[in-house]
This record gives sequence, C-alpha cells and structure tokens, in this order.
Amino acid sequence: AAHGLLLSCLCLALCCRGGARGSPTSDNHEWKKLIMVHHWPVTVCKEVEKDCRDPPDYWTIHGLWPDRAEECNGSWPFNFEEIKDLLPEMKMYWPDVIHPLNRSHFWKHEWEKHGTCAAQLDALNSQKKYFGGSLGLYEKLELNSILQKLGIKPSINYYQISDIKDALASMYGVVPKVQCLPPKQGEEVQTIGQIELCFTKDLRLRNCTEPGELGESGRAWGPGLEVCEDGPAFYPPPPQSAR
Ligand code: 5GP
Repeated sequence: AAHGLLLSCLCLALCCRGGARGSPTSDNHEWKKLIMVHHWPVTVCKEVEKDCRDPPDYWTIHGLWPDRAEECNGSWPFNFEEIKDLLPEMKMYWPDVIHPLNRSHFWKHEWEKHGTCAAQLDALNSQKKYFGGSLGLYEKLELNSILQKLGIKPSINYYQISDIKDALASMYGVVPKVQCLPPKQGEEVQTIGQIELCFTKDLRLRNCTEPGELGESGRAWGPGLEVCEDGPAFYPPPPQSAR
C-alpha cells in the first residue's frame, strides 16, 4: 500500500510538472508586457570570460522580450534579408557582445525566442518591425544619456542599487528592473549587468514591477544574472579606461 501511495504521489508530481509547462500561459503564448532589456557590455564580457574584446562603452540592446512567452512560432525563421536596411543601427546598438564577428546568430536567437512572440502585436508583426521597433524604443529611451545626466557613470566607486533605481524611476516615471552578477569569490559587491524598462502592449512605458510585487529574485536572466540585491553595486568601467 505504501508503495502504491508513493507511486501515485510521484505520478501526481509529474502530472503537475507537465501541467505547469503546458499551462495555458505557455500553450497560448500569452503575455502582458514587453521588456526592453539593455545590457552593459563590460559586464557581459565579465560574465562569459571568453572572446569578447573591446566591448562598447555604452549600454546596448539585449532584446525586446515579452514576459511569460518564448519561442512562439518555430516555423517563422529568421531572415537577415528583411533587416538588411537596419544593419548600421543594428551593428551599433544591438551588437553581439560575446561573438562580435558572428552577430546575426544573436539576432536570429532573439527573433526566434522573443521576436516571434512580440510579433503578436501589429506594431511588431514582421522582422523589420520587430528589430526596427526595438531600435526605435531604445533610441527613444536614451538610457545612455539619461544615466549621464543623472551622474551615474562607470566608476571604481560603488553605487547603491536603490539610488540607481530611484533616479531612473524619477526620469522615466515608471519602475525599472536592474540585474546584477552576484559577487564572485574575492569580490566585495555585485556587478550591474542589465537595466530593463517595460512597456504595455500599446508601447507605453509601465512599471516593470508593481508596488508590493516581489522582485522575482532567483530568476536566471542569463548565466549568473539575477535581480540586484539592495545595497552596493559595481558599475565597471571599460577595461582600457579603468580609473
Ligand atoms: P535570452 O536567451 O533570453 O535572449 O538571453 C539570455 C542569454 O543571452 C544568455 O544565454 C546570455 O549568455 C546571452 N547573451 C547575453 N548577451 C549576449 C550577447 O551579446 N551575445 C550573445 N550571443 N548572447 C548573449
């Protein structure tokens, strides 16, 4: 009887796991907000410790991600031809920081994983519109000049995460989300890696987290990236200009 009970518990657990993966949300690829993810190339390079050399010294685009939905249309392949006209801006603002010579792989990945879901919106329903629209939002947000204006520059001195979040919230009027690499052995503090700003489906800025909502700590955003802990953080200068 005990054996039977154990078996039925195991079955129930597996069924529930299956249920969660195949829940209406993932089956229907439903999502509520779009997340404009900027990353700091110096931290991306630190994260991979591989072949990135001379990372850009400005925040670049990681992607435009619908929350809660990924890989929505496996039969809609990435086609570089469709975004050829955008190449100068793509190279500048959406470079593959990790494999700079192989950049269209990164764009292919972003399209297949996130773009095919974002394409549910009329405004983003082609590759040209998805990549062009993302570039448009990035340019409109002007994160690099906003951070400059706020006096938040790469530095060997640490910042308080709450100061960065509050300053950005005051400029944009919405709550951003900031992700960090947790301190490695021998490091005193976390390292800032990504800044997210969120949009409604009609492409208006909205809070990334609502007041009282937990910060989704523990969610993996890339290898090692997590929602920053409150407290001090390192915003690393590019290697050549380390001061
Ligand atoms: P996602 O797969 O959701 O777009 O983002 C997470 C992944 O993107 C992680 O595996 C992370 O290593 C990867 N990633 C972050 N920045 C870059 C980049 O500049 N180039 C490439 N190729 N991958 C990146």
